[in-house]
Amino acid sequence: MTTAQGPHIEIDQKSGFCFGVSRAVKLAEEHLAQGGGLTSIGAIVHNEEEFKRLKQLGLHSTQLDKLPEDKAQTLLFRAHGEPPSSYQQVKREGRQLIDATCPVVRKLQERVHKAWEEMKAEGGQVLIYGKKGHAEVAGLLGQTNNEALVLQFPEEVKVVDRHKKTVLFSQTTMSRSGLEQIEAALREHLEHPDLLKSHRTICAQVGNRVPHLKKFANKHDLLIFVAGKESSNGKVLFEVCRANNPRTFFISSPEELQKPWFEPLPASIGICGATSTPQWLMEQVAAATAALFTRFP
Ligand code: SF4
Repeated sequence: MTTAQGPHIEIDQKSGFCFGVSRAVKLAEEHLAQGGGLTSIGAIVHNEEEFKRLKQLGLHSTQLDKLPEDKAQTLLFRAHGEPPSSYQQVKREGRQLIDATCPVVRKLQERVHKAWEEMKAEGGQVLIYGKKGHAEVAGLLGQTNNEALVLQFPEEVKVVDRHKKTVLFSQTTMSRSGLEQIEAALREHLEHPDLLKSHRTICAQVGNRVPHLKKFANKHDLLIFVAGKESSNGKVLFEVCRANNPRTFFISSPEELQKPWFEPLPASIGICGATSTPQWLMEQVAAATAALFTRFP
């Protein structure tokens, strides 16, 4: 898009919903279109604007400990996945469920469970590199009877038993460089570096975006990164963009655009986002950005 008086604006064609989020949203839309009541456990997508759109279609959201009495409402487990206890509760209460757990996360849950059983038999330990309290991490922890240790920062490795065989997994949306730092700190900390077996389980849908976004960030004079404030993937990819282009600004909706960011006037502007950012929102941001220049004196 080239504005009449302003810079060239490009929306990154590789930004936007990943396969797992797209699938979850489609499952919800299909159910709502049939007139069925639907309640998602937690926000179906870490993007406030998309969440608002789905709410207008009739989607509700709650937590498992605050479920409505009305069992006519079908429940939806989002792409992040849930621990086994959530499935047990739904079954016990006789509720209908749409399980929108991303197949990549489901596979990771299975691998974590298998490794936990193996480590139990061998006196080892399972570690998860992830964000404490994140829904996907809670789902993974549930596969280990909550016995796995969650590490978010390299300095936390000091609480790890240094004598045990150790298997490390990563939450799917963490950064590759962060994982490498954790691995290095663990190899240093453990009695012998060979005690560590690391499964690099960052999702390719996230990992592949990093090299692409580096190029996209370098190609433009200024970047607008669009993501929900709660999106961990958004935080990771925003940092990638900012490291490659200091004129990168984070917004969650078009109203957050600020005119002073565009002074001096950039020749080209890139609009990009996270795996939870809908395409329609990036288009709205591109249109709102273009409109700013028509109002410049
Ligand atoms: S980032 Fe990957 S693992 Fe996570 S929901 Fe998207 S496709 Fe699934």
